[in-house]
Amino acid sequence: MFATLEVNSQGYKGAKDICSAGASLPVRVAGISRESVVDGPGIRTVLFTQGCPRSCPGCHNPDTQPLDGGVVRDVGTLFQKLIADVEFVKGITFSGGEPFIQAEPLAELARLLRQRGMDIVIYTGYLFEDLLEMSRMEQGIYSLLAAGDILVDGPYIETERDLNLAFRGSRNQRLIDLPPSLQMGKAVEYEV
Ligand code: SF4
Repeated sequence: MFATLEVNSQGYKGAKDICSAGASLPVRVAGISRESVVDGPGIRTVLFTQGCPRSCPGCHNPDTQPLDGGVVRDVGTLFQKLIADVEFVKGITFSGGEPFIQAEPLAELARLLRQRGMDIVIYTGYLFEDLLEMSRMEQGIYSLLAAGDILVDGPYIETERDLNLAFRGSRNQRLIDLPPSLQMGKAVEYEV
């Protein structure tokens, strides 16, 4: 599924160009997968976050569901791992697990990656409308939405499974173009 996370167990070091308190924020992660062409447009590196409050039947990544599983790494360490092959990839995908239960550190990571020219795709089991509502109480959720380019929203529903869909597994899931969606306050579909 995805590679064991090959990060320096001593944590964040060597990212001298990152000067941000956010670089020390912890993220619970399951692993990193490289050279994916099914998790968003172009060749992408995928960060699988650890922990999901749902138990969707047929979930493709059940190992990422336990909230206390995976390993904890800081934003700066993950940033260095994710830009390792930056010349070959179009962008970075945050998958899960459920990225929005760790919205604040992932928003910081996305911000750093965008500065390196990476675009950001985010998978979530929540609906865009629910995330907007939740962001009234939790600023990090809005920050992560604002740092993304495409949101793939909604849980995987086995009875809606369709192998012909681009970048998603079931028909209920939507590809949402985040910048215009946030500007208009409603979901705007991303055209593949
Ligand atoms: S939301 Fe995604 S990661 Fe979570 S259980 Fe459902 S399919 Fe699995």
